[in-house]
Amino acid sequence: MNTKIERSALDAIGAESRRFIESSKGHYINGRWHRLGETFAIIDPSTELQIGQLYEADADTVEQAVAAASAAFEEGSAWRTIVPCEREILLHKLADAIAADRDTLADLIAIDLGLPKSAALAFEVAKVIDVFRYYAGFPSKITGETLDIDRAMGDAEFFAYTTHEPVGVVGAILPWNAPLLVGAWKIAPALAAGCTLVVKPAEDVSLVILRLAELASNAGLPDGVLNVVTGCGAVTGQALIENSGIDKFAFTGSTDIGKRIYKAAADRLVRVSLELGGKNPVIVLPDVDINAIAPALCMAAFANSGQICVSGSKVMAHASIAKDLVKAMASFAETLVPGSPFDTDTIMGPVCSKKQFDRVMAYIRQGEEEGTLVVAQQPPTSPGFFISPTIITELPPQSKLLHEEIFGPVITVETWTDERDVIQQVNRSAYGLCATIWGNHHGNVQRLAKRLRTGTVFINSPAFPPANIPTGGFRQSGVGRDLGRKGLEGFLEPKSVIARIN
Ligand code: NAD
Repeated sequence: MNTKIERSALDAIGAESRRFIESSKGHYINGRWHRLGETFAIIDPSTELQIGQLYEADADTVEQAVAAASAAFEEGSAWRTIVPCEREILLHKLADAIAADRDTLADLIAIDLGLPKSAALAFEVAKVIDVFRYYAGFPSKITGETLDIDRAMGDAEFFAYTTHEPVGVVGAILPWNAPLLVGAWKIAPALAAGCTLVVKPAEDVSLVILRLAELASNAGLPDGVLNVVTGCGAVTGQALIENSGIDKFAFTGSTDIGKRIYKAAADRLVRVSLELGGKNPVIVLPDVDINAIAPALCMAAFANSGQICVSGSKVMAHASIAKDLVKAMASFAETLVPGSPFDTDTIMGPVCSKKQFDRVMAYIRQGEEEGTLVVAQQPPTSPGFFISPTIITELPPQSKLLHEEIFGPVITVETWTDERDVIQQVNRSAYGLCATIWGNHHGNVQRLAKRLRTGTVFINSPAFPPANIPTGGFRQSGVGRDLGRKGLEGFLEPKSVIARIN
């Protein structure tokens, strides 16, 4: 891999995007850049070239960020005591700033993650604006209850009420696959609740969250309310989860790291929400219109090169239609040729990193040995971590490809004849993030939806997370929910006030 900073890799992006990448940023703490720690490379996955560098925060730098967030929460014009309408206005201003900066944000996502710029605009930046606008409506509507209570002590008369208070300083740890959107899922509700944050983006895709922090300051968020520290999980992430100033961890990422954070949280009973991995079944009933749904089934798994937590990568087709369905999916998949994220007709870019490329290719090689590759894997002819869409059939039931999250452009297809077996398989899976059902008989579809034990069930649509619907998983797919009102509640602590009034 070339590690010299390669200006030519930056030619495809706008002047402001290029200026931002080339500027010497650092960690964003208390409204200023801090260049502290060892540097690490930013790699463009389409060219494998280094385009810039970032700094790795150690425990001292993380402590500075947590102290800034604590001060912004507790002291002076503390964020939690700013009147709700003012918080709403600032969240709307931030949404406006994101909208005005959409081109730069999409450039940063495309060059850092490899997501086609058109998709970055439509599925990341546009959705992020929705999330900020949705949560901007909440601060003035966070309510409690007033209650009459028993005269517990003789004649004593009481008046009682409940409130919902911000949980405090949030440590948000983010994945690389939807770097801005998943960031918004934590940052917007936390700010609406009155919390302050230290955010750690994934080391492979950090640029866009740094840009968001700067936009937030420009929009008027007080210093210290939104801080960002960059660095790898083992150093910066670990320092964040060991820092005693954090009141809540809001994590999205792999189940393995989620468990580690859960354990760290348990030691101090820190609040926690975990959005983790998924192995999401796509159940196809025998009465579907095969040619109509095949492209949607493919895009549900190949969009963002399959690097989506709710990716529909495990197709479970009724045996009577499986052969024709695979044929229709294969002929669509063959039209998807991965290309540069900056070509306007690119639908699939590279996967995010060399590590991810090697991981996904190892699964594909195993699939080739154990089953049948229906859409053949093209060897890469140019630099870049490109993997073409892959469909694998006839895998043995115990194959790990059917049970583990591959997180690449790979669909496995299994067949079934008895609905009860499908339900049992889905409900016994370690994961329970989401399921999709395709079928036309209302009763059959709804019966399945009722019996499946997953956080979300999509019917006749690829999976997508709307801002006002809670998203999260059963079993090892997570704890708590992001988005919707539930996503806000995770950043609030209920408090009861009981006053004697006689
Ligand atoms: P990951 O678990 O490897 O990393 C996630 C974050 O945790 C990164 O910022 C990383 O630096 C940090 N981290 C790593 N080790 C750490 C440690 N010891 N202490 C603290 N932090 C540490 O996951 P990833 O590869 O970045 O993301 C892909 C995963 O995220 C997939 O499993 C995907 O399904 C999941 N995901 C889930 C959802 C959801 O809503 N359920 C959404 C998006 C992604």
